[in-house]
Amino acid sequence: MSRAWNFSAGPAALPEPVLRKAQDELLEWQGVGASVMEISHRSRPFIALAEEAETRLRVLMTIPPEYKVLFLQGGATLQFALLAMNLAATGQSADYVLSGHWSEKAAREARPYVRVRTAADASASGYRKLPTFTQWQVGADAAYVHYTPNETIQGLEYPNTPDLGGLPLVADMSSCILSRPLEVRRFGLIYAGAQKNIGPAGLTVLIVREDLLERSQGHDMAMIFRYAEHAAHHSMLNTPNTWAWYLAGLTFAWLEQQGGVAAMERYNRRKADLLYGCIDNSDGFYRNEVDPGSRSRMNVPFFLHDPKLDERFLQQAEQGGLMGLKGHRALGGMRASLYNAMPIRGVETLVDFMGDFQRANG
Ligand SMILES: *Cc1c(COP(=O)(O)O)cnc(C)c1O
Repeated sequence: MSRAWNFSAGPAALPEPVLRKAQDELLEWQGVGASVMEISHRSRPFIALAEEAETRLRVLMTIPPEYKVLFLQGGATLQFALLAMNLAATGQSADYVLSGHWSEKAAREARPYVRVRTAADASASGYRKLPTFTQWQVGADAAYVHYTPNETIQGLEYPNTPDLGGLPLVADMSSCILSRPLEVRRFGLIYAGAQKNIGPAGLTVLIVREDLLERSQGHDMAMIFRYAEHAAHHSMLNTPNTWAWYLAGLTFAWLEQQGGVAAMERYNRRKADLLYGCIDNSDGFYRNEVDPGSRSRMNVPFFLHDPKLDERFLQQAEQGGLMGLKGHRALGGMRASLYNAMPIRGVETLVDFMGDFQRANG
């Protein structure tokens, strides 16, 4: 077997110990006589698994008791619409920070349900520089303020969290959740598709302040769209993605063993510094166009000085055991995603390869 260093943006690499544990338990899970995928989500062992995963996440992120944690389906994209349906009263406005592909999409999908206003817009910079928090134009009457702390495609990241006082701050953390410590109290709602930093696709984690659940009471909408119903039924209003929930729990346990999010912050910083260092010291052979203060630690898009070399780069990278480096089709070039599951060794291997490639083709 030859597992490669996997830089895919998502679905992304999972920690190898998590996959090994899942492999060990695939045919029979904890003596129940069946795989974890083959038992009722309402059975006692599965409910225990579900609760344990939630507890682990609460400890890892120090989630205060007045927040509900939900394990839903439909990806972050479903939440783009649901959060507007749940958090805004009819006719109310919400303020959106437009910093790249995903925040643009979040605003577009919310538009049928809330009056979307633009709080700030990074498009004039070609999405290479984030608006500072002081540049955000936020109305006191906004139902909530939405932003994307890490733009997965353009490779932009806010290094810290704004303080909006009483206004609910809503964050799409699909590509940065659990990558460093966070003050959950500053947020009204945090949501994340699992397939980047938590587990396989098909699971979405929501962390929502309890008082916000009341807001949808006046709306006529199906139960399945209501956060309050999901919370009341412990995310088991209908059959959840049991397999992904199980793997998320294993990832949380692995994170604990690694030293939690504080340790992840240090690893992730080191990995990003290594790769940006290689790019910046390549005399223009490689380049990253993002303003240094807005650079993402999680997703590093970069370009070769001559795009005619792209194919050769990707092919030789693959031969060297490095996969998933092709950039998003909207940007071209390359992108290396450095989520929690990517070991420092993997980034060292990438940087060595990039140096060799430059010497051979420079
Ligand atoms: C990947 C990603 C999404 C899309 O997630 P789906 O689970 O495919 O809906 C949304 N937002 C961000 C920031 C992402 O990285």
